[in-house]
Amino acid sequence: MTVKAYGAHAADKPLESLTIARRAPGPHDVQIEIAYCGVCHSDLHTVKAEWAGTLYPCVPGHEIVGRVSAVGAHVTGFRTGDLVGVGCMVDSCRHCADCEAGLENYCDAMVGTYNGATGDAPGHTLGGYAERIVVHERYVLRVRHPEHQLAAVAPLLCAGITTYSPLRHWHAGPGKTVGIVGIGGLGHMGIKLARAMGAHVVAFTTSESKRRDAEALGAHEVVVSRDAAALAARARSLDLIVDTVAAPHDLDAYLTLLKRDGTLVLVGAPATPHPSPQVFDLIMKRRALAGSMIGGIPETQEMLDFCAAHGIVADIELIRADGINAAYERMLAGDVKYRFVIDNATLAA
Ligand code: NAP
Ligand code: ZN
Ligand code: ZN
Repeated sequence: MTVKAYGAHAADKPLESLTIARRAPGPHDVQIEIAYCGVCHSDLHTVKAEWAGTLYPCVPGHEIVGRVSAVGAHVTGFRTGDLVGVGCMVDSCRHCADCEAGLENYCDAMVGTYNGATGDAPGHTLGGYAERIVVHERYVLRVRHPEHQLAAVAPLLCAGITTYSPLRHWHAGPGKTVGIVGIGGLGHMGIKLARAMGAHVVAFTTSESKRRDAEALGAHEVVVSRDAAALAARARSLDLIVDTVAAPHDLDAYLTLLKRDGTLVLVGAPATPHPSPQVFDLIMKRRALAGSMIGGIPETQEMLDFCAAHGIVADIELIRADGINAAYERMLAGDVKYRFVIDNATLAA
């Protein structure tokens, strides 16, 4: 079966309309007609080969929502017509300690929704900038939000879980002061989620123009990080900081804002390294520097259900598929409020 998609043939080529193959659903597969797909900065890093190992043609997209159009004979969890989501992975080994713990995201054999290893043509996975996808049911999520919110649910599948997981792991909640650095796709979800978990939320942004928005998103305080004095005034005041910035920057500026035993979690994945942090900023207050990658399937479902219960969706700008190259330019300029989402119905046009 061939379907319309949008992708690139090389790092220096714009994305364009493509026709790709999707497998017929196997016994455990769910076939999904994709309604909307969010646009993550990781899509841009990958399609432009900023990280190593991009395979072409590259069809990005791992914030997928849509409706089930067929299921394999052994599928038990989903039926035709169900509203579902697919996030950053479509397979893993299913038996290692990470998979058994529901942390498939840390499985050595995790298969990304795009650019991952597969027996399907063309030999690597093709993502959600496409009319349809076929995924083993283990990696399909149930969407419980009302259907009219579907486009704004899409970004939860990556931006949502990537911030939810570290907030939960490091116990964001009442009595904790949590910083979110960078107010883009991930950061704006981090603010909403940390607020809903009951934490005191401090947003850090390079953009003075985002101050009001950050407050509306739920930040109790907003600090413009270009203002050294404003940063210094928060020294030793935060329990946890989640850093979503997509470019290298000075980590000590944030480490010094942590209390004793505080943790700075990096989720932003710049193509080139950050300058090394000062050892003394870590050892003086027993601070920790950590990383976190998306989240496992059970936690992704938990996050979707938490968001449905709290009425949380992303703030989005809906675009046509042929608007994706312009959207990438705006993303590079930090001009996203706060997630582009592709209306996949426009792929057919
Ligand atoms: P995004 O929407 O482009 O947001 C990134 C934000 O970082 C910007 O809006 C900006 O916020 C801030 N920023 C400050 N200086 C910047 C600079 N020089 N260049 C770019 N951004 C700058 O990106 P995103 O989709 O949220 O993704 C953020 C990063 O997380 C990317 O590197 C992405 O690959 C990575 N990621 C990691 C995971 C994971 O599992 N760990 C999952 C998804 C994405 P202000 O204007 O507020 O400063
Ligand atoms: Zn992503
Ligand atoms: Zn595994």
